Amino acid sequence: MKNLPQRSCVICRTQKNKNELLRIVKNKDNIVKVDEKGKEPGRGAYICYSIECLEKAKKTKKLENALNVNISDKTYNEIENAIKNKLLKETTSSSQQSANGKKSGGDVIG
Ligand SMILES: [Zn+2]
Repeated sequence: MKNLPQRSCVICRTQKNKNELLRIVKNKDNIVKVDEKGKEPGRGAYICYSIECLEKAKKTKKLENALNVNISDKTYNEIENAIKNKLLKETTSSSQQSANGKKSGGDVIG
């Protein structure tokens, strides 16, 4: 039985599997952190792995409202890096797959 928990992006409200969204967490000391593993204790908000949603988050302060805390530029940078890393990893892994799928088969005799 698969029953993946669904979460929605606080910016665009798209529902996705939990592991397809980036969790931003505010801990009990009001420190905001990027929680890529989704395991940090505290109040969490989710955002797409999308620069577009991040830019909107900065403009509209929706992420701050969702967590009820101020988010510094430094933290926004950390979020941006996490998103970029994820996007980069996905690009790299898919191009590796296609490169490995091909082997020379010109060894036929006779
Ligand atoms: Zn979104």
